Amino acid sequence: MYLYNSATRRKAEFTTHTPGHVEMYTCGPTVYHFAHIGNLRSYLCEDVLEKYFRYAGYSVNRVMNITDVGHLTSDADAGEDKMLKGARREHKSVMEIARFYTDRFFDDCRKLNIRRPDTVQPATGCVDEYIKIISRLMETGYAYFAGGNVYFDTSRLPRYYVFNAHDKDALAVGVRDGVEADANKRNSNDFVLWFTKSKFEDQALKWDSPWGTGYPGWHIECSGISLKYNGEYLDLHCGGVDNAFPHHTNEIAQSESYLGHPWCPWWFHVAHLNTASGKMSKSDGEFLTVSLLEERGYDPLDYRFFCLQSHYRKMLVFTWENLDNARGAYRKLVKRIAALNPADGAVEEDVLRTFREKFVGVVGNDLNTASGLSMLYDVLKAGTNDATKLAVLGGYDEVLGLSLLDKAEAVREQERRSASASHEGYTITGESGPDPEVEALILSRYEAKKAKNFAEADRIRDALRARGVELTDVPGGAVWKRA
Ligand code: AMP
Ligand code: ZN
Repeated sequence: MYLYNSATRRKAEFTTHTPGHVEMYTCGPTVYHFAHIGNLRSYLCEDVLEKYFRYAGYSVNRVMNITDVGHLTSDADAGEDKMLKGARREHKSVMEIARFYTDRFFDDCRKLNIRRPDTVQPATGCVDEYIKIISRLMETGYAYFAGGNVYFDTSRLPRYYVFNAHDKDALAVGVRDGVEADANKRNSNDFVLWFTKSKFEDQALKWDSPWGTGYPGWHIECSGISLKYNGEYLDLHCGGVDNAFPHHTNEIAQSESYLGHPWCPWWFHVAHLNTASGKMSKSDGEFLTVSLLEERGYDPLDYRFFCLQSHYRKMLVFTWENLDNARGAYRKLVKRIAALNPADGAVEEDVLRTFREKFVGVVGNDLNTASGLSMLYDVLKAGTNDATKLAVLGGYDEVLGLSLLDKAEAVREQERRSASASHEGYTITGESGPDPEVEALILSRYEAKKAKNFAEADRIRDALRARGVELTDVPGGAVWKRA
């Protein structure tokens, strides 16, 4: 595979410490609110990358943290802990909101076909690791104690800036975030490893440490968790582009100073999803969620299809019109797959292999998912039997994650049911145009009524109403429209 590496700012052939195996780390969500669809774009692209590795024959160990402590409202270690702010907003404890939003995050991931990483570790569960790392950094002089906190001394490094070759003053986080400089810091970009004293008193979670009772800084959690579960040689580290500086820069500083050798050669950063009015932000409370897409009648996988159409390193603008276009293309694709006959011929193994190799090459060009999608259409047009086409498409979908074969089978099943209903003289008319999911629900209601299961029929009518569908029974069928 050829992958762009943000650390070298070049695309190169991907290599790993152990041939054939990828140790992969992903910065997980800060669980003080729902994930927005921008956050989920990052996880979705990382999911495709992981699945690509597996499809191309690598074994993968993927680790993700859950940030439930230490991420302050400014990345420059100022402001208050985002978790505490979330807990106050909802009149709950920090642990309660952490549990709630972690579960919601994985609900969203499931709906988007994002695989759960092999290890998911909440930051609060690894404090001993951070203390071990910070202790060594204190012993070796990379860290210092000032004003009640432990800081990393960036002046000790021959090369601190990894992701930006810019002027260092322009990057000083305090300046960038417009926050007051912390007088305890020896250098403007030094960062906190352990807080015992900060600008607020009522931090909910505290642990004993050699430097006093307190809590870890945000950056140390990713180093600690990755070193514990990925080992000393990480192959690939992922996150949204805003994580590159200062978060990833600081992770490299502390991990390499601790280890005494290079830590992670490959860095994968996903560009942001923005709305037409600008950046999406969790902290201002105004953002798009998977639940909102569902309320508006979209399948979460419409959004997955939309993301796959563009390259992960290009900023993506979300509009409802763009999502509608993606949905239309996705539905059409599924319909074309549904028209293939699984009983048509036996799978031609050499054709399957050739298509597989081609996909590995095409998508392996810096995770070119758009070309991966267009290869689906090449398969549909190929001169081979339907059984082979379905086998190839199923393989591609192991990477793309669009549930293509299941959805196609659902369309076939629905066509069988519609045919049988219309044979019985029952027809469905949609005044707002066709919608396979709505029609499937109406058919289920018809079948429930036929079986005299009226409670089920009523439940389905309510489910349709919740989707904004108005249903009228007419002689010989039903007419529906969107309210
Ligand atoms: P957070 O929960 O704020 O720690 O962010 C979770 C992940 O989402 C991080 O990897 C961020 O870099 C990423 N992220 C934040 N905003 C966006 C966005 N608008 N588009 C894509 N990724 C984002
Ligand atoms: Zn991280």
